[in-house]
Amino acid sequence: MELVIEGLSKTYDNGVRALRDVTLTVAPGMFGLLGPNGAGKSTLMRTIATLQRPDSGAIRLGSIDVLAQPAEVRKHLGYLPQEFGLYPNQSAETVLDHFAELKGVTVRGERRDLVQALLQQTNLYDVRSKKVGGFSGGMKQRLGIAIALAGSPTLLIVDEPTAGLDPTERRRFLNLLGEIGQDVIVILSTHIVDDVRELCHRMAIINEGAVVLTGDPAAVIEELRGRVWRRAVPRADLAALSSQYDVISTRLVAGTPMVHVFSDTDPGNGFTPIDAGLEDVYFHRLGAQAVTA
Ligand code: ADP
Repeated sequence: MELVIEGLSKTYDNGVRALRDVTLTVAPGMFGLLGPNGAGKSTLMRTIATLQRPDSGAIRLGSIDVLAQPAEVRKHLGYLPQEFGLYPNQSAETVLDHFAELKGVTVRGERRDLVQALLQQTNLYDVRSKKVGGFSGGMKQRLGIAIALAGSPTLLIVDEPTAGLDPTERRRFLNLLGEIGQDVIVILSTHIVDDVRELCHRMAIINEGAVVLTGDPAAVIEELRGRVWRRAVPRADLAALSSQYDVISTRLVAGTPMVHVFSDTDPGNGFTPIDAGLEDVYFHRLGAQAVTA
C-alpha cells in the first residue's frame, strides 16, 4: 500500500501559505519529512491524519480517498502528535488497555496479550503500573507509540517526536521506530537532520510549505560529492566571504566559524574538500546560511 499526496495546498485564515502544491508518494518503510520550524510539517501531518482539510489537492492511501473517507483512513492510522495529553493519574497499562479497547480490541484476553506485548516492545513493561503523570518526556513518547500501534496501523505518523528528548531517550525512541515492521508506512516529521539520516530510506525536505527535495538520503548526499568545501574563517571576514561564495552553513567549532561552501570547482583560498553530509544537503536546499552551534 502506498500513500499518494497530490497537489496539496493550504492557506490559513491569517494568510499564511502553509502548504504549496505538495506532491509526494510514500511507500512502506521509514520516510523522513525534514524541514525547519514553520515549514508546514505539522499541517501536512494533520491533513494526512484527517484532522484538518486542505484547500485543494488529493490524498490516497491504497484505494482509500483520504479526504472523502476519513473514517476509513482512521482504521488504518496511528498518529503521534507533537503534543498529547494523558490522564496523569492512570497507569501506563490502564491507559494502553483503554486505547486498545477504543481501537476495537474488545476481547479481554486478546487485549491483555496485546497490551503486554506493546509494553514490552516500547520498553515500558517495568513501569507499567506507574502513573503516567510521573513519566519523563521519552517515556511519554514511547507510550504514545504504544497507543498508536495498538490499532495495528498500516500508516503511522510521528510528528517531531525527538524534540526535547535527551540523547539516551532519543536513541531509544529511534530504535523503537526502526523496529516497526517494514510493511508499515512510517512518516517521521522532524527538524533534526540526524533523525532522518539514521533511520529513513526515503526522505523529503519541505520549506515554506513546498517540497524542495525528495530522494534516498544516501543518493542525495552522493549528488554533492566533491562539491562541498570547508574552511575556518575569522568572524570579521564572514560577511565578505558570504558575498563571494555559495555558503551552505556556518558552524561554530570551539568558537571559530567553520564555513561550508558549495562549489563545482576548487574555490581555492584555503578551502579543503570534505565528504558532504545530509546536513549539507539540507542547508544547501534551504538556501539558508545557517549558523549552528
Ligand atoms: P512545522 O510543523 O513545520 O513547524 P506548521 O505546519 O506548524 O509547521 O506551520 C506552518 C505555518 O503555518 C507556520 O507559519 C505557522 O505559523 C502557520 N500555522 C500553523 N497552524 C496555523 C493555524 N492554525 N492558523 C494560522 N497559521 C498557522
